[in-house]
This record gives sequence, C-alpha cells and structure tokens, in this order.
Amino acid sequence: MVKTAFIDIKRTEPKEAHPRERLKNWNEYQQNLSDSDLKSQSSRCMDCGIPFCQIGMDLNRATTGCPLYNLIPEWNELVYQGKWYEAYQRLAKTNNFPEFTGRACPAPCEGSCTAGLVSSPVAIKSIEQAIIDKAFDKGWVNVRTPKKRTGFRVAVVGSGPAGLAGADQLNQAGHDVTVYEREDRIGGLLMYGIPNMKIDKQVVGRRVELLKKEGIAFITNTNIGKDITMAELRKQYDAVLLCTGAAKHRELLIEGRELKGIYPAMTYLTASTKHLLNPESTHPEISAKGKKVIVIGGGDTGADCVATALRQGCQSVVQFGKHGRLPNERTADNPWPEYPQVFKMEYAYKEAAAVFGKDPREYHVSTKRFIGDGGGQVKALETVAFESYFDEKGNKQLRENHEEKQTWAADLVLIAAGFEGAEDDVFENLNVENNNQCIKTKKNRFETALQGVFAAGDARKGQSLIVWAIQEGRKAAEEVDAYLSRKV
Ligand SMILES: Cc1cc2nc3c(=O)[nH]c(=O)nc-3n(C[C@H](O)[C@H](O)[C@H](O)COP(=O)(O)OP(=O)(O)OC[C@H]3O[C@@H](n4cnc5c(N)ncnc54)[C@H](O)[C@@H]3O)c2cc1C
Ligand code: SF4
Repeated sequence: MVKTAFIDIKRTEPKEAHPRERLKNWNEYQQNLSDSDLKSQSSRCMDCGIPFCQIGMDLNRATTGCPLYNLIPEWNELVYQGKWYEAYQRLAKTNNFPEFTGRACPAPCEGSCTAGLVSSPVAIKSIEQAIIDKAFDKGWVNVRTPKKRTGFRVAVVGSGPAGLAGADQLNQAGHDVTVYEREDRIGGLLMYGIPNMKIDKQVVGRRVELLKKEGIAFITNTNIGKDITMAELRKQYDAVLLCTGAAKHRELLIEGRELKGIYPAMTYLTASTKHLLNPESTHPEISAKGKKVIVIGGGDTGADCVATALRQGCQSVVQFGKHGRLPNERTADNPWPEYPQVFKMEYAYKEAAAVFGKDPREYHVSTKRFIGDGGGQVKALETVAFESYFDEKGNKQLRENHEEKQTWAADLVLIAAGFEGAEDDVFENLNVENNNQCIKTKKNRFETALQGVFAAGDARKGQSLIVWAIQEGRKAAEEVDAYLSRKV
C-alpha cells in the first residue's frame, strides 16, 4: 500500500482489443494489464479498516461489494509486493472460479470501493483476472485429489457456476459427486449464454477438466425429471443439490409473435456458441448475417445479442430499452456504496458505434406489434414511446404515449426482456415447491421440504450473477456436508 496512491495514480480501465479488430473474431475482447501497471493499480488500495469492497449484500435491489467476501485488500497488497503465488492462494480461498468472475463479473466490489468516494475505484477486477491467469500460466492451479473418501454419494443437477462450485466443495470434502447436465456440454450459462468474447469456452473446459481429474463425474445429455426421475435419483444418492438455473424467459405476447424470425435471446445465443464450437451445428435462419436486427430489452443479455449479431455480420442492429438513459454520475438516490446506476459504454455498444457510427440503444421504447411480409416472416415492428411521470405517492412510473408511434424494419428480432425464474418443468418434474418462480427452501437455508434435497444458484435466488451462483453453491455445499455428517 502507498498511502496517497489512490490520489496520485489514476485508475487504469481494463485493457481491451480495439472494437474494429476484435469484431473480426470471437476471441475474448479483454486483455490483462502489464505487471508494472498492475503493481501501480494495486498500490491504489488503501487497505481500509472496513473494506467495503468485501461487504457482499443486496442494497436497493443491486449487489454491493463482493458476495464471495474475496480477500481483496490482502491480494491487492500481495500483487503490489510482487508476491503473485501468495496472491493466488488468498484468492483461491474464497473463490472457486476467479477465471469466470475476473472476466465477466460486473464488479460490485468496485462500485463500493472507498477510493471511489473521492476518486476512481481500485481496478479490482483487472487485478483478479491477472492473478488467476498468471496462476494457470505458471502451473500453480493443480489437481487437488481429496485424501479420504466418505462413501457418501451426492448428485448435483445443473452444471452452471452454482452446480460446479457446489460439486467442487463437496468433492473436496470427500464425497463422491456426480453432476448431471441436460445440455451436451458442461458449464450452464458460462457455456451457452455468455458469449465466447466474454468467457472463452476453453477457459470453461480447462476448469471442467481439472474438476474431472479431482474425481467429479459429469453426465451430459441427461435431463433429471425426464430421463431419470427425482425418485430414482434420491434412491441412488445420499443427497441431491438442484442448481437448475432460472431460464424461464419473459415472453412478449403481442400481435405477430408467431412470425418467423423472432427468437428468445437465449435460443439465439446458444445457437451461436454451438455453431462456434461445432461448425456443423448451423441454423442459418437464426444467424444475423446480412439482416436488420432488433433486440428487445435493454439489459446485459441484450448487449450480448448486439455483440453476437455484429460478429455474424448483421446489416444493422438496434436495441430497445424500456427505461431512459442512465445519468453520467450517481444521483442523490443512488449513493455510495450502492452499485452505481450510471451510463456505461459496454463492450457491445463500443463495437456497434465503431461499425455504424452510433450507439445502438434506443430508450423508452414499447413494442406493440410485429408486422409480417405476407409470407410468414417478420419484416417490421411497431412501437410507441414510454414517458415517465410521478404518481400521487411521488414514485416515478412509465406510461405509453401513443402519439409517438414508429415503425422499424427488421428481419431478425431477439427478445431479451429478462427472466421470470426457474422453468415450470422444475416444479412439475422435480417435486419441489414454487416460491415466486424460484425453488422454495427453508428460511435462510438451502434445504427444500424434501429430505436430503437442496437448491442453490439462480434456481433458488432468481436470475442473478456468476459471483452469487458461486457463493450459493459454496454455502449449499456446507449445508449438504453438515446433513451427511449427521448421517454417519
Ligand atoms: C446471456 C446472459 C449473459 C450473462 N452474463 C453475465 C455476466 O457477464 N456476468 C455475470 O456475473 N452474470 C451473467 N449472467 C448471469 C449468470 O450467467 C447466471 O447468474 C449464472 O450462470 C447462474 O448460475 P446457475 O449455476 O445458478 O445456473 P445456470 O448457469 O443457468 O446453469 C443451470 C444449468 O442447469 C441445467 N439444467 C436445468 N434443468 C436441468 C435438469 N432437469 N436436468 C439436468 N440439467 C438441468 C441447465 O441446462 C444449465 O446448464 C448472464 C446471464 C445470461 C442469460
Ligand atoms: S474498499 Fe477499495 S481501497 Fe478499500 S480495501 Fe477495498 S479495494 Fe482497497
């Protein structure tokens, strides 16, 4: 730590390939800072008495601080001292998969960093990614085979970050773990969802290989509840951990929805990654190549669709958001240490601006109907504008202004309007209770009403972040382990 470094040294933003260059391929767009930059960036950390970067909680419906309670000031200091191996050891204590969070976390730790109060936050995410990438490069991330086996068998259903973190913890505790996945590849949304330019699929595969060598069994193409019933699974295993995600997407049931060329964002993103990993898996009808693309939904999933459409060579791309443009600075009702709700040029928007000369986002848009070409294919959408007003309680609301009608040409429409929660199949086939479209567990716990059946991740919490999924997987594993210990 250098006492005044957070004042004397400017924050360096994560390094990125130039938008025009990176659009030529599907490689990760972020690159590591140099060791000397990382040393000066880590020196900006003040080793705060109360490190707000670590608080990990939801404030005002957004994540504040690191949910994994990563030992951020400790590894910042170790990187500053050039003790990279020790930094890796501190990081691995709390985070099973820093290579995923280092690449794709929205960094709520930085939003609550104290340095951000008077200057810019410490570049925590860049430092995290550099530590884990160096650890892999130097061969420090080794196979850790548990010394003793307990003889207990645990089934984990779903192989996203929650399932993988839970499986890792339970395997290290000595239990025999089998992960079931209905898809053809392991990783959940890390594999099919988050595009390759954010997390390279080889990075996911590298971790899965390590977990396999450590003793975890992975079974793909197997849908629990259909291929194997929940009753059979419970008979075969001493405990079951459900990490099935929250893939029920919000639909847009308006006139013309049945037209061809309209897809949920996840169908599109999954097809794109499947094609990238296996060129024989092609769906030209769902590719953006040469098409006018409209993405409905202003969030991060929508941004990933924009970046994917650009790489596929779309003719144009526009993204509709319901809300207005965010302010450039925090407003009075979004104070530190809350996650800053401010305008950002995410990677996809920089790329679209580089190609088409403008940010693809359109704000305050409400889609009213899809218009067909007479042959069953979508050719346009009709929208009206939203306008904001304050209701009698003084709360900001949105209403449609039908005078501001607009028609937009489109041959491919992607619906990225968010997720409602776990899929209906989960409640129908896995015998668990529905709590507002999430798997119901006991209060502040991970166990469901079924003895020996636990749930974690987006399936329990609702659509969230990788970092929360890892945290949920770890915490649920603790509970499963305690449950099995009571059986001895
Ligand atoms: C497009 C997109 C981009 C995102 N980008 C980011 C980002 O940049 N940063 C970030 O922090 N978060 C991001 N998120 C959110 C993040 O990916 C999720 O919060 C996280 O993956 C949830 O992890 P999980 O393990 O709970 O579930 P998931 O990752 O959804 O995994 C659930 C798995 O369970 C499997 N499954 C479901 N039912 C069954 C069954 N019956 N039998 C067998 N298998 C089953 C599914 O096939 C799936 O593989 C993004 C989400 C989306 C949709
Ligand atoms: S809040 Fe910021 S400055 Fe303080 S310990 Fe955490 S990273 Fe360092």
